[in-house]
Amino acid sequence: MIRTGRQYLDSLRDEREIWIDGEQVRDVTTDPRFRPVAESIAELYDMQHDPSLQEKLTYTTPEGDRVGLSYIEPKSQADLVRRREMVKAWMDWTGGMMGRSPDFMNVHMTGFGSAFEYFGRGGERFGKNIRNYYEYLRKNDLALTHTLINPQTDRSKPVHQQNTAAAIIKETDAGIMVHGARMIATLAPFSNDIAVFPSTFLQLSDEARPYAFAFSIPMATKGLRFICRPAITPRGGRVQDYPFSSRLDEMDCVAIFENVLVPWERVFIHQEPKLGNGMFAETGAMNQIMHQFATKNLAKAEFMLGVALNMADAVGIGGFQHVQNYVHEMINTVELVRSCIRASEVDCVPGPNGTVLPNEQPLLTVRTLFPQLYPRLVEIIQILGASGLVMVPSHEELVGERAADVERYYQGATIPADKRIELFRIAWDVSCSSFAGRQTLYERYFSGDPWRLAMLRYQNYPRQQELKKRVWEFADRTAEWDKREQERKDSREKTHVTA
Ligand SMILES: Cc1cc2nc3c(=O)[nH]c(=O)nc-3n(C[C@H](O)[C@H](O)[C@H](O)COP(=O)(O)OP(=O)(O)OC[C@H]3O[C@@H](n4cnc5c(N)ncnc54)[C@H](O)[C@@H]3O)c2cc1C
Repeated sequence: MIRTGRQYLDSLRDEREIWIDGEQVRDVTTDPRFRPVAESIAELYDMQHDPSLQEKLTYTTPEGDRVGLSYIEPKSQADLVRRREMVKAWMDWTGGMMGRSPDFMNVHMTGFGSAFEYFGRGGERFGKNIRNYYEYLRKNDLALTHTLINPQTDRSKPVHQQNTAAAIIKETDAGIMVHGARMIATLAPFSNDIAVFPSTFLQLSDEARPYAFAFSIPMATKGLRFICRPAITPRGGRVQDYPFSSRLDEMDCVAIFENVLVPWERVFIHQEPKLGNGMFAETGAMNQIMHQFATKNLAKAEFMLGVALNMADAVGIGGFQHVQNYVHEMINTVELVRSCIRASEVDCVPGPNGTVLPNEQPLLTVRTLFPQLYPRLVEIIQILGASGLVMVPSHEELVGERAADVERYYQGATIPADKRIELFRIAWDVSCSSFAGRQTLYERYFSGDPWRLAMLRYQNYPRQQELKKRVWEFADRTAEWDKREQERKDSREKTHVTA
């Protein structure tokens, strides 16, 4: 059942162990480094209760529960469109700058829940566990974080030759015991549960087995703690001076498991490297996840384009040819991403248990191209903004002793000083601030290492044979043409000699 923002905030007040700046956080809903972000997520939950948005953001299950639309198991192209519109509404609310709003993991878990038989290959109970867990999340409208990778200790060695990665160290009647670390858990302080999934390719060896697991447990589990990077959220200043940093720092953490007991009913893969390696691709869940984050990318690219268009108007640079050229690049990014999402819906394919999967090829294009496209959007905002990005003062100056100076010298071509400051502080926060840097890093890496994704695209592209064959067929036709031309030439020469 859909939660309100208040219910969500209340759910974060538990025994979770979150560390930052050398101290333990008492309550993420009141600590100034976390509170604004928690409240921003609460706004998303509240949107589900807005009568004008409820139809768009929620649906009713066969059991009669009204739940978030990101939990829908799509059965048709129309369902994919509906889900995309839901995701877009949340993403537009944050300018696409909160990649880990709860819909991200909801779509993950729904994809896995629909493909429960895959998990059942490791034992029937694991299939049941993932299906039950999906239904539990949907019913309780929970927020999840997840960690997929092992600590960045020594990437030249397999995981079992390092002593940092989380591993199963013991099994009891109650469950598995896990010890070690995992990263990165974005959104962890603001989540109810953490899903710990395999992602990096594991060797199919006995040594790899203790690292091959999938499970999910509450954030407030005994022995589980999180260490955060320093917060971007500014302490002091006005929200309008740091429009994104002050509200949307979703936080990134390392998860440390100290002899953590994971109950069997929350285990989905147990010591099965092969199942772990195939979990995202073979279940079809990756298609659903890419559909979600391509929609985030669209919202984000559109927001960046909107910033650039407003800046061009604000300081009268829209008439310059190279400015138009830069903005047209941003338009291309928006339209490319939009078209790929549409193509994935129109060309959807059958998935597990009567579901449909958005077509993976156009979505893989977004997945592997956006890490290159997004930094360019940031660069264009910097190029267009130039010194305007650093000339604007904080909002306090508008009411300070120098207010008259600000009003006169900070006006733009089409907007007064206060609006110009608002716009350029937004532009600063998406292109130059720590928040902007973290967003760019996020887009480069959140969905995996772009190099290895590119290699996989090359290796797995399904049209390879067809396209290679087409070239050889063309070469064969060319050889035929060549032969005919040679024959014609020979016959002309013969005629010439005879004549
Ligand atoms: C802001 C941010 C948020 C994130 N949030 C999450 C999250 O919520 N959950 C989660 O699970 N993950 C998250 N990630 C992690 C993300 O999944 C990884 O960044 C990504 O998979 C790449 O792994 P890595 O960072 O360990 O890079 P590494 O694997 O350490 O790579 C570092 C460099 O070495 C190269 N390299 C390393 N090993 C190899 C190899 N075997 N072959 C070729 N090249 C190699 C890479 O190309 C890269 O250039 C997040 C990352 C970022 C930056």
